[in-house]
Amino acid sequence: MRDPVTAYVALGANLGDAAAAVKDAMARIAQIDQTTLARASSLYRSAPVESSGPDYVNAVVEIRTRLAAPDLLARLQAIEAGAGRERPFRNAPRTLDLDLLLYGSGRIDSERLQVPHPRMQQRAFVLVPLAEIAPGRVSPAQLKSVAGQSITLVPSDPGHGA
Ligand code: ATP
Ligand code: CA
Ligand code: CA
Repeated sequence: MRDPVTAYVALGANLGDAAAAVKDAMARIAQIDQTTLARASSLYRSAPVESSGPDYVNAVVEIRTRLAAPDLLARLQAIEAGAGRERPFRNAPRTLDLDLLLYGSGRIDSERLQVPHPRMQQRAFVLVPLAEIAPGRVSPAQLKSVAGQSITLVPSDPGHGA
């Protein structure tokens, strides 16, 4: 059996109850076979960049997985489909988007999968939550280059008391 690999997945949603969709997706990622959830970032809110519609809720999770990267992508796409993801046009609003950002130190460049994710360095909504849980993976210069993009923390759920 292969050794576990540390990988990072970006979550995003901007239709319906986007925060609930992101939290639910985290729980589903934790249930992927041969995979454990190691860390989850806070939830962030950002205005659509290349997309349209309501604000996005974004987060990043760190996982440890024994799955090969294409198998992991297939599991992530199944979770997207389960959340009702449709792809009517490029950058359409979406119930759930799961992007594989990093897979160990691996570089993958196939038609269906590119890792590191080729557009992650341009996106505050990816770099800010990634830096929260994996500061060693994002340099201050990288964060600075996206500092013009507005992104705010979603206030944490106070729970059901009082
Ligand atoms: P972007 O990739 O710019 O964030 P998107 O997430 O809206 O755009 P999708 O429609 O979700 O794009 O995905 C299009 C295709 O991208 C997927 O079918 C998948 O095969 C491919 N893909 C390539 N690399 C990755 C990756 N690292 N993570 C997820 N999908 C990827
Ligand atoms: Ca995406
Ligand atoms: Ca995607």
